[in-house]
Amino acid sequence: MFKPEVHLPTWITNWFPKAIWTIPNNRKEIFLTFDDGPIPKITPWVLDILNQENIKATFFCVGDNVAKYPELYQRILDEGHVVGNHTFNHVQGLKMSKSEFINNVNKARKFINSQLFRPPHGWLKRSQYKAISKQYKIVMWDVISVDYNPAISPKQCLQNVLEFTRSGSIITFHDSLKAEENLKYALPRAIKELKAKGFQFNKIEFEKVKQLYTDTQWGRFKQRTNQWKQKWA
Ligand SMILES: [Zn+2]
Repeated sequence: MFKPEVHLPTWITNWFPKAIWTIPNNRKEIFLTFDDGPIPKITPWVLDILNQENIKATFFCVGDNVAKYPELYQRILDEGHVVGNHTFNHVQGLKMSKSEFINNVNKARKFINSQLFRPPHGWLKRSQYKAISKQYKIVMWDVISVDYNPAISPKQCLQNVLEFTRSGSIITFHDSLKAEENLKYALPRAIKELKAKGFQFNKIEFEKVKQLYTDTQWGRFKQRTNQWKQKWA
């Protein structure tokens, strides 16, 4: 089914060829990510679930939240998860200049020790993408639960994840107030069902993914064309 708000078509993901959208592997490994925290009302709940399920995940933190709740940030690290930079104020790249945007990312860098970056909403201008790619590995997603949208039912949120997850998927949830209801329903159920299907969960480590997708846009296009040619030959 075509649901771009959950899973983007390949031609869009090619627009940012050096970014990571999936992490291909033959171990049915998938990667949970949590954006916009850490906050006291939600993040500890997520960490408790991950502990119970013995899962390591990746948290794309907002610098301002880390500054307010350093103990939560520390707990994420102490429990063996990975953190990434999600800007200082959750700013939207398309609405600001390159230097304003980079300044906000650098401000967050003072609080978040990571070479992984995820742009809020996945939005980046070309110039911002180029500048950020030099300093960070950009991590996008393969599946968004759409948990942040209260117009979506908790069941639909769960269904979004189960329908589109495949080996290598990077799955996005939000440790935010907006997402609370959907997250608290969908996350534990998604973990149980995906485990039952044989998937295993892992965190995204910079050292392991830095060599993925170093291609230019043209390189990525050529690679895909060759794959198609082989497929239809
Ligand atoms: Zn976000």
